[in-house]
Amino acid sequence: MTQSNTLDDVNPDGKRVLVRVDLNVPISEDENGGVSVTDTTRMERIAPTINEISDKGGKVILLAHFGRPKGKIIPQMSLAPILSTLSEVIGKPIAFSTDCIGPMAEAAVGAMQNGDILLMENTRFHAGEEANNKQFTADLAANGDIFVSDAFSASHRAHASTVGLAAFLPAYAGRTMQAELEALEAGLGNPSHPVVALVGGAKVSSKLDLLKNLVLKVDALVIGGGMANTFLAAQGFDVGKSLCEHDLADTAMEILEISKKAGCAIVLPDDCVVAQEFAANISNKIVKVEQIPPNAMILDAGPDTVHKIGEWISRANTLIWNGPLGAFEITPFDRATVDAAKVAAAQTRAGKLISVAGGGDTVAALNHAGIADDFTYISTAGGAFLEWMEGKELPGVAVLQK
Ligand code: AMP
Repeated sequence: MTQSNTLDDVNPDGKRVLVRVDLNVPISEDENGGVSVTDTTRMERIAPTINEISDKGGKVILLAHFGRPKGKIIPQMSLAPILSTLSEVIGKPIAFSTDCIGPMAEAAVGAMQNGDILLMENTRFHAGEEANNKQFTADLAANGDIFVSDAFSASHRAHASTVGLAAFLPAYAGRTMQAELEALEAGLGNPSHPVVALVGGAKVSSKLDLLKNLVLKVDALVIGGGMANTFLAAQGFDVGKSLCEHDLADTAMEILEISKKAGCAIVLPDDCVVAQEFAANISNKIVKVEQIPPNAMILDAGPDTVHKIGEWISRANTLIWNGPLGAFEITPFDRATVDAAKVAAAQTRAGKLISVAGGGDTVAALNHAGIADDFTYISTAGGAFLEWMEGKELPGVAVLQK
């Protein structure tokens, strides 16, 4: 990966800085229509970039999307209700513009002093955002002198505010984008071997490209969660009522074949935790993969498997993790995910492992394990993290490169 231009390469003093951030935060609505932000992680992540530009005298103009309004003004997808929480997290007052382009935006930017922060309304209220329309991008660019992208999680989308602006303004990576890119480079770009990838989660079908790319790059691939069932079934094991994509048996065998040729060890469960259904307080038992009862479903990896995964993690210098090892939302089916995460956390704390995790439910699973702070880096990105694991070029990253 070539290096990106960062905030070290520009002095924002007195400049109007268009900063693309990810404010797609989870919210809850009360019966009076009041909105509260239920997880401020994404706001905390962008705080360093916003504060650095502001403290250096730049005018911080925040661009973000919220939900999928598809080019229409949908009041429920306005960014206005999250403004006060954002201001609390950043620790500074933030003004709001009810449009991200046009006279409203121009007036709001015109009123800014050096160091001020302004949040623009949802960029996706305009169809030109997702279409990366040239005129819309020019209208956005009219309010900026430079462009800073701090939204890695939106960088797999070639939209006006993630990619288009770089054709109009000098473009730089914000601090969070920079940290994310450095972590990803350490994880897969130029990693210290042995590299172990752990991929869990529900389905093989959503992670086919990812698995095919990983087996070419890593030394061992641990397959867990529901997707392991598809591999077990393809190898002739009876997986009972388990979540399983039987139609992908040939694909699973093909991935095993590619991995053999590439010298990548595949680590599959030897034992698992089964129950009659996925429910709290349901009776469950540990069985070998050869002995899964026909009326049972696999809901977690068993202790022998976790021990084996722990040994692979302990031998690794680098770990990339996406997806839980079991149906972690209900105890005790969180056991394997929690125990494996604890091994990775301990190895990382001891300075023996670089651990990079992200995508989908992974952040929730590792937060649940209580060790998220011990990993080298946990990405809050979903789709962008998965596309990176698939080996794809992310257009929003490519435009920042020197
Ligand atoms: P993903 O978004 O693909 O990472 O999938 C995460 C989901 O996979 C979580 O909701 C887990 O409950 C689910 N999952 C993991 N293991 C299993 C399993 N053995 N059976 C059913 N669902 C599972």
